[in-house]
Amino acid sequence: MVEDALLPPLRDVINRYGLRAEKSLGQNFLLDLNLTGRIARSAGPLAGETVLEIGPGPGGLTRAILSEGASMLIAVEKDSRCLPALADISNAYPNQLQVLNTDALELDETSLFEGQAKIIANLPYNVATPLLIKWLGRADRFSSMTLMFQKEVADRITAEPSTKAYGRLTILCQWLCVCTRQFDISPKAFTPPPKITSTVVKLVPRPKLAFPATQAILEKVVAAAFGQRRKMLRASLKPLGQPTDILLRKSDINPTRRAEELTVEEFCRLAQVFENSQ
Ligand code: SAM
Repeated sequence: MVEDALLPPLRDVINRYGLRAEKSLGQNFLLDLNLTGRIARSAGPLAGETVLEIGPGPGGLTRAILSEGASMLIAVEKDSRCLPALADISNAYPNQLQVLNTDALELDETSLFEGQAKIIANLPYNVATPLLIKWLGRADRFSSMTLMFQKEVADRITAEPSTKAYGRLTILCQWLCVCTRQFDISPKAFTPPPKITSTVVKLVPRPKLAFPATQAILEKVVAAAFGQRRKMLRASLKPLGQPTDILLRKSDINPTRRAEELTVEEFCRLAQVFENSQ
């Protein structure tokens, strides 16, 4: 888009504003506009959409999101050194970019917009999982979340049963959202390069849950089951304080199975039986 052509290359932006990457803020910048464009396009058409970006940094992904036509972009950045670079982008896209200089962990993002928004972010790895869990708690307000994680976290979000990566995060994410891997990004694409490969994942909240359950109860059952993931469920579920053989028989689940073998549907059934037996 013509507005982006008015902005300087990202490497110049970083030099001009002295944006030396801070490890404590998880700063690994993406300077390749082909890649930032690809991430933004993974979120689907952005025209007319409100988008929330966490951690815009020098603004590579920010520029791509605006260039793809988002009508409003709310960007939350903790590092005030990035503000002048973001102000330049705001000038190139008048009235389309709102920047908040705050800690995303402490923010209720849903108070910043009406209706639904899409989240698109190259997340700081040290706070990516707590941020995702917070957003899952308000999944009704987000039409999609297109997020870059370290590959190991992406593996957990999209895992299949009976794999090492399948666990508590898998159940919570797949219960609430349809989760699909988009593509991997090599460490070489970042400045500075991190030690690990990154993966873009798209989570689309389910408008209606396929398997009903009370979230707090489901989380309790799943935590107990995976607390001792190598044990049979008849043993691992003991912390729930109920006779586990009865609980499992009523749920139509063989008590010799292990947590990682259960589907999301079976966990939801177990949670309902547990709730009704209390
Ligand atoms: N979006 C940029 C890109 O793709 O090049 C930067 C991504 S970098 C991995 C993560 C960004 O998140 C950094 O700009 C960092 O300052 C910011 N950040 C780290 N912790 C944050 C927090 N708690 N709240 C808001 N932003 C944070």
